[in-house]
Amino acid sequence: MQSAKSLSLSIFLTAFHFAAKLIGGYITNSLALVSDAWHLLTDLLSLIISWWAIKKAVQPPNAWATYGFHRVGILAALVNNVSLVAVSFYILYQAYLRFLHPETIETAGMSILAIVGIIISAAIVYLIHDGAKNNLNMRSVWLHFAGETCASIGVLAGGVVIYFTHWYWIDTFLSGILGLTILRGALIMLKDIIIILLEGIPDNLSLQEITACLNQLPDVTAARDIHVWCLAEEQIALSAHIEIASDIPLSQTEPLLKQIKEMLAGTFHITHVNIQFELHECRDCHHV
Ligand SMILES: [Zn+2]
Ligand SMILES: [Zn+2]
Ligand SMILES: [Zn+2]
Repeated sequence: MQSAKSLSLSIFLTAFHFAAKLIGGYITNSLALVSDAWHLLTDLLSLIISWWAIKKAVQPPNAWATYGFHRVGILAALVNNVSLVAVSFYILYQAYLRFLHPETIETAGMSILAIVGIIISAAIVYLIHDGAKNNLNMRSVWLHFAGETCASIGVLAGGVVIYFTHWYWIDTFLSGILGLTILRGALIMLKDIIIILLEGIPDNLSLQEITACLNQLPDVTAARDIHVWCLAEEQIALSAHIEIASDIPLSQTEPLLKQIKEMLAGTFHITHVNIQFELHECRDCHHV
């Protein structure tokens, strides 16, 4: 539960960060800071949801949730990313308004808050680093805060440039870039989430390849009605009908079943396998 611990610490840091940026943003009149504050609110939400999902995902299956709770993490990621899309549109809209009506900014305060942002985001990146190695949900949080650190460095650089040049448009420009970056990241992650929720085959697998590999196994006459889907990230399931040549006793199908499972796990990382042996194409068999 190391991940849950580092996430809960990150939640406190982000809550403080949000309050500081929001108040500071209004005092200094920096749009980049205010935009960042609203986006930090969704960060806070996403950290809380991720923390809850990590606790929930380890619960064993029960009579109601026969697969367990792996998909709680996917639902968490869906909520996170939809809220990020909304935030990015809000930021872009605010940048557009500021572009139409430019305003001056208090650069010293802006730079100090940017430094606070760099320190807190970098601390979270460090905290989450270990958990991100083997968990995609944690890795997306890690990636997000790595981006955050870069955004704060950008705001700091902007503050310094504005201090010397009085090019106030840089602030608007920076928040526009921030909005687009968040939007891009959220859309990329949404694509993966939608593939999982629609039970599509993972991006890196091909049904043709899997079918060919199954058909190549000795004793397999034909592999049919193959379904491949993700229970959650990195938890791939497959079900298939396998036609065999002769009417052998059940005990003799065991070596073949073992071979099928080893091939699927070794070649395709498919670990949740359900096979129905048959002598003829059955009525339920469908073809893609
Ligand atoms: Zn963020
Ligand atoms: Zn089917
Ligand atoms: Zn069948």
